Amino acid sequence: MSSLVGPDEDVAQGKPTVPDHVQDAVRTLIQWAGDDPSREGLLDTPARVARAWKEYCQGYDEDPAIHLRRVFEEVGGYDEIVLLKDIPFQSHCEHHMAPIIGKAAIAYLPTDHVVGISKLARVLHGFARRLQVQERLTAEVTQCIWDHLKPQGVAVVIEASHACMTARGVRTPGVSMVTSEMRGVFRDDERSRKEVLSLMGY
Ligand SMILES: [Zn+2]
Repeated sequence: MSSLVGPDEDVAQGKPTVPDHVQDAVRTLIQWAGDDPSREGLLDTPARVARAWKEYCQGYDEDPAIHLRRVFEEVGGYDEIVLLKDIPFQSHCEHHMAPIIGKAAIAYLPTDHVVGISKLARVLHGFARRLQVQERLTAEVTQCIWDHLKPQGVAVVIEASHACMTARGVRTPGVSMVTSEMRGVFRDDERSRKEVLSLMGY
């Protein structure tokens, strides 16, 4: 029985073709891991892995700031914190290319305009879909919102588990890492910072 998905079938299914040298790189890695890349179950794996990595790293093809371009000025006098929390995301650590799986809370104190709430998640995903370290991801999301939305304050808290730590190395499942970054009133004013952290549940 053959389950081969050849290049022609890929084209018919609208899948991007994967250059040979990229597939060869995956074959080398399979061999290095101890398996035989020419056995049937692994024949299509190099192309699949390569396409999966294009998807994991889609963020390189976008500028997350574009999601903050469209703002709404009619906020009906609302001048308090806007918070989106428990935003699930997936990224990959740049040290092991292993999954980072977690959730984020993103808050800002508007100046005189707001963005559609889903846009905050899009900014997060734009930066998460790259090779990352959690500290930089947190800082990049914060800075992007700070620069492009120009709010009075931004606060971002990210909590994530790193497969490079849970599945290899010290192998400590259940451990999560928390990072936070603040700008504006959330950094400068103790009361505002406490308020936003308590809204986030920290
Ligand atoms: Zn790692």
